[in-house]
Amino acid sequence: MIYIKPNQPDPRVIPHQQLPNKTLKFQERWFRDYPWLHYVPNAGGVLCFYCMEAFKKQVSPLAKSMDEAFVSTGFKNWKKAIEKFAMHQQSQAHKVAMTTYTHQQRSVETQLSTAREQQQREARSCLLKIIKSIRFLARQGLALRGHESDEGNLVQVLEDKAEEDDVLKQWLSKPTNHYTSPEMQNEILNIMANTVVRTISSTLHALPTLQFSIIMDGVQDFSGSEQEAICLRYVDGDLLPHEDFMKCHLLQERTWLGWPLMFSCG
Ligand SMILES: [Zn+2]
Repeated sequence: MIYIKPNQPDPRVIPHQQLPNKTLKFQERWFRDYPWLHYVPNAGGVLCFYCMEAFKKQVSPLAKSMDEAFVSTGFKNWKKAIEKFAMHQQSQAHKVAMTTYTHQQRSVETQLSTAREQQQREARSCLLKIIKSIRFLARQGLALRGHESDEGNLVQVLEDKAEEDDVLKQWLSKPTNHYTSPEMQNEILNIMANTVVRTISSTLHALPTLQFSIIMDGVQDFSGSEQEAICLRYVDGDLLPHEDFMKCHLLQERTWLGWPLMFSCG
């Protein structure tokens, strides 16, 4: 079993020491007073977690001079427990092992944190490239996806960019990469559409008087469903007229005159 910190179970599982006239038990408070104590069932006694690690890896220059009972065989002489624990805690070998272990842990944590930051930087950069590609296609009014998943415009644009970008190439080849899925594409498009509506709305609200007209026109697609386009017409502060497209709505119902009754905000 691999431990990443001292194993300090219920003291009742630790074997007792049988003396001619009495039985001695491991005391729970020893775990609190000496947090480095580490119980190993196979040894039937306690070791020093940090000295054991230093001894196994031979990382401490004093590893060879360490007390065997605390690094491999297991200490179980409870009669002399406090005396021996205190002595071990004061030993030079133990102090060096503690310092070495703490230093190594910090070094591993720093490396992990640096690697994680690098991963996040790469993921952020790739996501931005995907968003810019989607914005380019949306701006040009081009479809993102084709009949086959790898034939769409988005995939082709990204593959083109990846030819000169190894990070993006690696990112796109990851099996867990979902930033190009249809659901993600739609979510990014929705965020962009909402941003456009918010920008137009704030422009209108900044005008001296909130005045605008609505232009609507519809067309039937090949399945017979009617899509109604809604545009806003207004004049800005420089007296320049604007006609901004807001959204296409799918009609759910029509009156006999042909005027739309209900919209589906899809
Ligand atoms: Zn130690």
